[in-house]
Amino acid sequence: MDTAAIAALRNRPVPAGAHVIDGARRGASDGAVLDVVSPIDGRVLTTIPKGTAEDAGAAVAAARRAFDDGRWSGLAPAARKAVLLRWADLIRAHADELAVLGVRDNGTEITMAYKAEPLSAEATIRYYAEAIDKLSGEVAPTAPGTLGLVHREPAGVVAAIVPWNFPLMIGAWKIGPALAAGCTMVVKPAETASLTLLRLAELALEAGLPAGVLNVVTGEGPVVGAALAASMQVDVLAFTGSGATGRKLLEAAARSNLKRVYLELGGKSPNIVFADAPDLDEAARVSAAGIFRNSGQVCIAGSRLLVERGIHDAFVAKLATAAAAMQVGDPLDPATQAGAVNSEPQLARVLAFVDEARAAGRRIVTGGQRILAETGGTYMAPTIVAGVAQDDRIVREEVFGPVLTVQAFDTEDEAVALANGTDYGLAAAVWTASLSRAHRMVGRIRAGVVHVNTYGGSDLTVPLGGVGQSGNGSDKSLHAFDKYLNLKTAWIKL
Ligand code: ADP
Repeated sequence: MDTAAIAALRNRPVPAGAHVIDGARRGASDGAVLDVVSPIDGRVLTTIPKGTAEDAGAAVAAARRAFDDGRWSGLAPAARKAVLLRWADLIRAHADELAVLGVRDNGTEITMAYKAEPLSAEATIRYYAEAIDKLSGEVAPTAPGTLGLVHREPAGVVAAIVPWNFPLMIGAWKIGPALAAGCTMVVKPAETASLTLLRLAELALEAGLPAGVLNVVTGEGPVVGAALAASMQVDVLAFTGSGATGRKLLEAAARSNLKRVYLELGGKSPNIVFADAPDLDEAARVSAAGIFRNSGQVCIAGSRLLVERGIHDAFVAKLATAAAAMQVGDPLDPATQAGAVNSEPQLARVLAFVDEARAAGRRIVTGGQRILAETGGTYMAPTIVAGVAQDDRIVREEVFGPVLTVQAFDTEDEAVALANGTDYGLAAAVWTASLSRAHRMVGRIRAGVVHVNTYGGSDLTVPLGGVGQSGNGSDKSLHAFDKYLNLKTAWIKL
């Protein structure tokens, strides 16, 4: 990260965004735009097209043509790889620009955004590019006289609907394997974080990705996203966002062409600290980062602390100290540890959870309020709420803000019951020095990833996906290819 470049980029005027459809920049069919409000200071940064159903249709038609004529899927895998690697190089070359643009759009602190956005997108595109020509089909163990071949074919047109917290990273988790598999795409970024994905698509064209292979359409979820979900021409829908939207997407798939729908719907992830944790100071420091970085706007955020009763008070005190010491504010300051909450409505939603807990007599250990209002930006103090009950809304529902709840437990069984006591199942962590307990807990916790003696930080080699109402299907790792490939059998009598 070049701090001088970041300082130079922070006030650069941002030209109006444009859809990328069939290789060209376009406005909305009716010319409408949405203001892009920066959560750093509440000012309008630029505009993006307020896409119409017609725009979504044009993008799907372009992706359909590009898939059906084989301009991408028909290339040799090594040729697709070469284009994607050039694209990864361009993403790296534009990392400062992409990182700052993204931070001005969504408010994530730059130290996290730089790694999690351009660098992670680059690594993801590179990972799947490198894998393309290492995937083979199968020869089935059939009886003599027959030959059973299992081919893996690209699934067709993929629509990806992406949230605002990490548009490049989460976008690339879907774009990387889908394009590498030979699919074509329409990506719908979130209203409040579209700018970097638009730029990413422009860089793809510069890298030589054929027109129509990757289209990006901005606008409102219930208009553009809903049109993609209802399309008869989309074969696979990959989504990260809220459970409420996920349900609508499944309905739309059922009402239209039964497209495959993969959902990552967030979590309410338990972070379980046993008294025998190897280093409680380290556990407190990492746990604070695990909930408060990016102001808690992380799908896998460790938002529920479960702590063994014997160390409850001491551990909560350590965490409160760590939380209060976190530098919250201007996300483009490299010293900042938690930037802005994404938008005014999101901040209001998060504060409403805390107000409800306060009104119910729960203990606000630290934080609990908006800060730095004089900047015009949307900032919130890292907040810890103790004395909560399992039925509290703040314990059961995803807050998606810098809010940690704390519950005490006495036994391993009780920890498991609390951990599994929500509808979600995305991530978890266990802090213990006992190898046996660690493995037992990994087995017993219902989640897509269970961290042991750490929180977060996994890489591309392992899958990330939810169980329960956290969704289905995984991003990352070679398993992600399965979502964007169909199996086809050739059964041959010899
Ligand atoms: P959140 O904003 O809480 O992350 P959302 O599910 O509202 O979750 O948003 C995630 C993505 O889904 C965004 O790109 C948004 O525009 C899109 N979206 C919202 N509502 C719909 C909808 N009815 N149909 C399709 N996409 C939607």
